[in-house]
Amino acid sequence: MNLSIPISGTFIKVSNKCNLNCRFCPLQVCKESSFEDFLNKLKRIPSDSNIILSGGEPFVRKDILSILENISRLNLKTFISTNGRIFFYKDLTRRLSKSVSGVIYSLFLPDEKLYYKITGTKEGFNQSYTGLYNIVKLSDLIVEIRYPLTEETIRRIDELLKLMDKIKTRKNLYIVLFLPSVMNNRKSIENIFKNWSEYYKIILRLKRSFQVYFEDLPVCLSGGEVIDSRKRFDIEDSESAVCPFVNNTIETKKSLECSECLDDRICRGVPLSIPDAILPEILKPSKGVRSNSFDYMLIREYDQIPSPERPCTVYKMFKFDEPERYVLIRDNKKSQLYYTDTESFSSDEIRETKLTRQQLYLDVSKKDALDDFQKDILQLQTNKYCSSCEYIKKCPAFFERTEDIPFEREERWIRQEIKRLVGRVLDIGCGDMRFYKDIINDLLKREIIEYYGIDVDEKALERLKSDIPKAKIIKSTIEDFKFQTGYFDYIFSLRSLNHFYDMKRAFDKICDLLRNSGMVIIADTVVFALLRHYDKVLKVRRSKRPVFEHYRNWSSEQLIEFLRENNYPFKLDTHKPVRNGTSNQWIVKLMKIERV
Ligand code: SF4
Ligand code: SF4
Repeated sequence: MNLSIPISGTFIKVSNKCNLNCRFCPLQVCKESSFEDFLNKLKRIPSDSNIILSGGEPFVRKDILSILENISRLNLKTFISTNGRIFFYKDLTRRLSKSVSGVIYSLFLPDEKLYYKITGTKEGFNQSYTGLYNIVKLSDLIVEIRYPLTEETIRRIDELLKLMDKIKTRKNLYIVLFLPSVMNNRKSIENIFKNWSEYYKIILRLKRSFQVYFEDLPVCLSGGEVIDSRKRFDIEDSESAVCPFVNNTIETKKSLECSECLDDRICRGVPLSIPDAILPEILKPSKGVRSNSFDYMLIREYDQIPSPERPCTVYKMFKFDEPERYVLIRDNKKSQLYYTDTESFSSDEIRETKLTRQQLYLDVSKKDALDDFQKDILQLQTNKYCSSCEYIKKCPAFFERTEDIPFEREERWIRQEIKRLVGRVLDIGCGDMRFYKDIINDLLKREIIEYYGIDVDEKALERLKSDIPKAKIIKSTIEDFKFQTGYFDYIFSLRSLNHFYDMKRAFDKICDLLRNSGMVIIADTVVFALLRHYDKVLKVRRSKRPVFEHYRNWSSEQLIEFLRENNYPFKLDTHKPVRNGTSNQWIVKLMKIERV
């Protein structure tokens, strides 16, 4: 049984009536359960669960005390979501506090005027506030204060601070700030978040005395104390609305900024209603280097898993919580089960890598460190039955080796492009140019190109200098590279874009250095997974600490979106995205056009 804070559990609506009169409340039109129906509902709840009695206002129900008595006979922990007016009465407070484990103050407003404006009820504020004071003094119940964030309430957040100062801190009393799905429109949400840093200073003062949680808000706006309403609350009957101040399950979205954020894995993103245009201004991604691959390790072999055929029941054999973390491969007559324990990627990212893009590679080398991706690995694809199976998201699913040599197609295209280079060329992140040295050397010898390579890896630059003496090599990032405006005919960046620290500074510089009608060629990779034997994974992990160099794992689509959103003057010439069936390398070729 879970008595930890914040409170979590299953909502059961006990009343559709309320002693407040909030103008937007949808509950008046809902049906109220009879006492018998309610007892039947209770029987469906597994013992050891937490239940949250909700309304409307549960305490307007005349038989609420009998309901509580019945619940106390079951092995359930009961919480009540209430506006708290009932606790104005001290005797009732003492009595009720013996029947429940905690109270959610579903609507807590900081002053009488605002309370009246929202609830249409004059004496409510005094009763609710005195009720809170009583419950804090007369009981040791868990108390959650839910403070809605609207344009008006956030402006009065200092009033909440004053009010809470009078209550004083106490164990098991905490505050949840949330964006109610009612009372907010796009404009008000925009206003709340545009001034968020000012409001947050007051919230920080509140945090000195109280535990403050932020429900469904982004990690970067809340100092990390985020709670996910989807994981806290279940609604017993999804068709039965509960008070909109507790049932706050809101939809969220991620932005391009999130794709550069290390908290992306644990953050739900921003509420859908925050306009995209203000996201770059308000979001504060926590930037840092990250991995661009993860391992699936061989953990079991089976002799008797049937081949996937219609109708297939393999998914029933594996009831895993996160099926995307498992993969099946058939090797001769055996079936091998692989598992990933990665914590660097969210379930969505793992699923995208496994199922949407299918960037899974089987390590067939004897080496610990792979250095020839065309020979050391084989690309895998879902078996034809699995790819059209409705249960694929619930199943490890069978993957098979493909005939294609990984990366060959994309590499061939890139080599052709490099052979066609003419004029002044800038190579961003040239390294020691392992794969194209022969072509560049040849073009330089024939004086077809003037080549500049920039990188920050001194050793690689030394090697390049001695291998291609005619190349002009400079140690620099693209962001800090200083050179003549409009000098270059071609700029290319092969597997370096995701290493740029600041995409805006990098592309401002690229635009500045490239002449009009000059071309940019960019190739980079999305996340991939390597399937290896368990022993090999452990050996590699023990032998060296991973060195991460990627600030993001952007796809070509994300790059194109970034260029469009920031109005960079490029026309798309060629786009080779990563798809199921391609390698994990994408290519984008752009032409610089004159700004209108
Ligand atoms: S930048 Fe995006 S992923 Fe990162 S904390 Fe903010 S909303 Fe969450
Ligand atoms: S995904 Fe494949 S193995 Fe799993 S149930 Fe479907 S057909 Fe069978």
